[in-house]
Amino acid sequence: MSMKVAKIVDLKTGANLVDPLTPQLKVYALALLQTYPALDAVDVYIYQGGLQPAVRYARDDLLAFGYQVAVAAEQALEPSTRPVPGAKQCQWCPARSICTARAVHVLSQAGERMGLADLAGALPVAQHVAAWADDVQARAKDALLKGATVTGYKLVEGQARRKWRDDALEVLERSGLETDQFTQTTLLPITAVERALGKKVAAPILAMVTEKPPGSPVLALSTDPRPQIAGGQFEDF
Ligand code: SF4
Repeated sequence: MSMKVAKIVDLKTGANLVDPLTPQLKVYALALLQTYPALDAVDVYIYQGGLQPAVRYARDDLLAFGYQVAVAAEQALEPSTRPVPGAKQCQWCPARSICTARAVHVLSQAGERMGLADLAGALPVAQHVAAWADDVQARAKDALLKGATVTGYKLVEGQARRKWRDDALEVLERSGLETDQFTQTTLLPITAVERALGKKVAAPILAMVTEKPPGSPVLALSTDPRPQIAGGQFEDF
């Protein structure tokens, strides 16, 4: 009898390459086995700039992994278990904006004035602090929007730009005004042209009339696959 093998293909759009052996995909495979218990194996793939080779998980391997996950999940729910905060594990956690352990961890890492030599260690902390601050602000905003009280805070209208009403041109024409003074001919967004003409037809035309200016410098890990922008001489202050 032939083996029953299911396939999972995970499309990754991030710049950091994901290892196909990541436990994340193994959890997907386990979930599939629970949904279709007759499976003999699950092949998992990552599609990230191309299809990566498959990793096969046999049924017994997945069941053993499922047992480990269940034990770990049970332990995590024990009242005596202490949370272990950190940038990586907290970033997707649903409790990230209410977790006391994370707040204490983040605030305990605020440092003194630092020199360049300290920056490498401080940057991941800074990113974690910034992510935590965003989560806390988002939670406060959400609570206020739902009518809750956050002592000392309220929601106000942010800045908004004036914009033309949908019927502006019509009203101007009806008013007998010279609409040339109010309109101009502009190029459509490049993506709109691609949609209208189709990418194949648009490509050679766009190659003649578009350019890509260099992007603003962005801080990235040294393992990031994008090439480094040449830096200049700089003295610590
Ligand atoms: S936010 Fe709290 S509960 Fe969630 S992963 Fe971080 S430490 Fe654990």
